[in-house]
Amino acid sequence: MSEGFVVWFTGLSASGKTTLAKALEKELVARGMTNVQRLDGDIVRQDLTRDLGFSKEDRDENIRRVTFVAELLSSNGAATTCSFISPYRNARATARARCRNFIEVYVECPMETLVERDPKGLYKKALAGEITGFTGVDDPYEPPESPEVTVHTATESIEESTGKILAYLERRGLIVGSTTSTAAAAAPTNLVNRIAEHPENLPQPNGTAITLSNALLSELDAIGCGLYTPLTGFMTQVQYDRVVESMRLPDGTVWSIPIVLPVPAAQLGAIRHGMVLELKGEDGNTYGLIEVKNAYERDLEKEAEAVYGTTDREHPGVARLHAESPWVIGGDVHVLRRAPLADDPRHLDPAETRKAFADRGWKTVVAFQTRNPIHRAHEYLQKCALEMVDGLFINPLVGDTKEGDIPADVRMRCYEKLLDGYYPTDRVLLSTFPVPMRYAGPREAIHHAICRRNYGCTHIIIGRDHAGVGSYYGTYAAQEIFDRFAPSEIGITPLKFEHAFYCTRCGQMVSRKTCPHDKSNHVFLSGTKVRAMLEEGKDLPPEFTRPEVAEVLKAAYREAV
Ligand SMILES: [Zn+2]
Repeated sequence: MSEGFVVWFTGLSASGKTTLAKALEKELVARGMTNVQRLDGDIVRQDLTRDLGFSKEDRDENIRRVTFVAELLSSNGAATTCSFISPYRNARATARARCRNFIEVYVECPMETLVERDPKGLYKKALAGEITGFTGVDDPYEPPESPEVTVHTATESIEESTGKILAYLERRGLIVGSTTSTAAAAAPTNLVNRIAEHPENLPQPNGTAITLSNALLSELDAIGCGLYTPLTGFMTQVQYDRVVESMRLPDGTVWSIPIVLPVPAAQLGAIRHGMVLELKGEDGNTYGLIEVKNAYERDLEKEAEAVYGTTDREHPGVARLHAESPWVIGGDVHVLRRAPLADDPRHLDPAETRKAFADRGWKTVVAFQTRNPIHRAHEYLQKCALEMVDGLFINPLVGDTKEGDIPADVRMRCYEKLLDGYYPTDRVLLSTFPVPMRYAGPREAIHHAICRRNYGCTHIIIGRDHAGVGSYYGTYAAQEIFDRFAPSEIGITPLKFEHAFYCTRCGQMVSRKTCPHDKSNHVFLSGTKVRAMLEEGKDLPPEFTRPEVAEVLKAAYREAV
């Protein structure tokens, strides 16, 4: 028998408790749980509490009886949901004390939304003083002080709030991931494909052409080849707002980074809904079409704060954001010509990597994202991960990076050298990741994970400060953000790693988790230090970088000087 639990929804009338309880029940049943029981006011009033009124005594008695039933059900293995206003902390504390695995979910919703929603107009009446004793108006509601889960139903979709509860239950081990949630199975089976095979059948352009930077061409191409599945175009305003505010698309699908097409304000006057516009590169070639759904203005400060966690213009991602027009257009796209980075023979489309994995018989594949040259620390993480899965997908980002980062070509040469000498070729696939770097830390870690899921990977290595820059993000923020979603929602499993380095006492690569020795035994160089040594033509220590790789880096620096 599986372990029972009680999910106790508390919140004001019309906050969405029963709606969420029903959505949760549906999801639990879909995951194969056979013993799911729901208690709410409508159900218990039929029998259990029909003699009770609305005095404090009666309401406490109501919760007391419900608690008794919930305790009975959960101790017999039932997944039990209770949705009651349950305004008093004491009564909920009693329920918590009596039920094993008591999960309090605070269903938060601001008064103005409640008034708007309220089907019977009770809030309006209570606020007007026409009825009295109404919880939250003239009767107290004591919000939970430390609920296991808080959901905000005014700003989250039902799927999103349910996702938070499911994620919590999964983490507690009270439910298993959905049967469709093993990483590979949760990935979309059908990749988006917006690469036009018969351009003559497409709608003809009938408006002004838009010129895209190389970074934007990469985004267009990523949509076209399915790397950004489920996106079929640049984001419309509804999509953009939801992604900025809650890391979800309107249907609840997790998506963390806005994918938008900025246009100069001067061009807006000539753009109308329903137009088909050519998308050109700076080289004058036509790369695609967009079917315009809408044009809208972004609040760049708000986007910066939400996506990058800072409005500091020194942050390279925020700086790039402010260099763009705040005006963007949304709509489905068609790709007519592949972007330069995607056209590179070292790049494989998601359909190709998926096939390559299948051809090799790999059922589990771990992805490694990097924008840095490969040092032994990366090799160590990759090989640790490879011990656990069938294949390793090395996927260096080759889109725009910030000034000072080692150029993509050099990094790819390092990889090719290293793979030749130190990796089993039948277990590794190297292919470029042709999108720009944003340095958005946690949000970008989710984005990287979603893209690698689309490539067909089941796991992704997430190191400390993944996709971070400077000291904008907490050391573990990019790892912790994954806990905010049910694993089944992202469809790929993060493998969370510590920093690795060589320890002279251990005589091997280690991390803080595996080595007891102090720093004086560790060979570790910062990126800045590495660059300084290369600029001075110094040799990198072999414990830090394989000699073959160091040679490529040194040669690149010599050429650059
Ligand atoms: Zn050691």
